[in-house]
Amino acid sequence: MQYTTLLFDADETLFDFRCSETMALRAVFRSHGLPETDEFLDAYRRISDTLWERYNRGEIEKAEITDTRFVRLFAQFGIPLDGVDFNRRYLDTLASCGCLLPGAAELCRDLRDAGYTLYIITNGVGDVQKRRFRESGLTPYVADIFISEEIGASKPNPAFFDRVLSRIAETDARHVLVIGDSLSADIAGGRAAGLDTCWYDFRQTNAPNDATYTVQSFQAMRALLLEGTK
Ligand SMILES: [Mg+2]
Repeated sequence: MQYTTLLFDADETLFDFRCSETMALRAVFRSHGLPETDEFLDAYRRISDTLWERYNRGEIEKAEITDTRFVRLFAQFGIPLDGVDFNRRYLDTLASCGCLLPGAAELCRDLRDAGYTLYIITNGVGDVQKRRFRESGLTPYVADIFISEEIGASKPNPAFFDRVLSRIAETDARHVLVIGDSLSADIAGGRAAGLDTCWYDFRQTNAPNDATYTVQSFQAMRALLLEGTK
């Protein structure tokens, strides 16, 4: 492998966002006497996911996600709570939920041991992602975390990747590989910035794509990145 440096997406690549999200939602719903039913959780996820997709397409600002998702949910169910204030409580709880996907810590450890320098690149709320990262147990293996809110641009904007490249140790972009589950944010974004990419198609969709590599499991990622390095 010609790579020295791996830029890993966080959620649904190393982190189990659904696990963290569900834990945090149940905890804040419970503390406010709201239902913890699948119907209620799914209604929230539909609203939030749709807003994130629009944000990733550059159609809305980040604040529209955080300021309206619970407002919309509560309007839909006729709940007389302040959705903006509720979002703050949710994010505070989410920050303490750093669930990893099974095998993610071992993968990062072994990649680090094989000589790669690992970074995390993520679109998200700065303080929340940082605290989740610290809770996750990945900090010994990852050199730094770059969060869109702090970088001043988000994936897939090439400016995000350019600013990340200016802050990492590796100076030759040919030695940098972007790894992520999102074809729009990670793969199209990485390509637009001139970087090689590895699509983590863990949902096994086999969708047509422009990634340099496609893997569908951590095992396949290991075969790609660790074979021949030991
Ligand atoms: Mg992701």
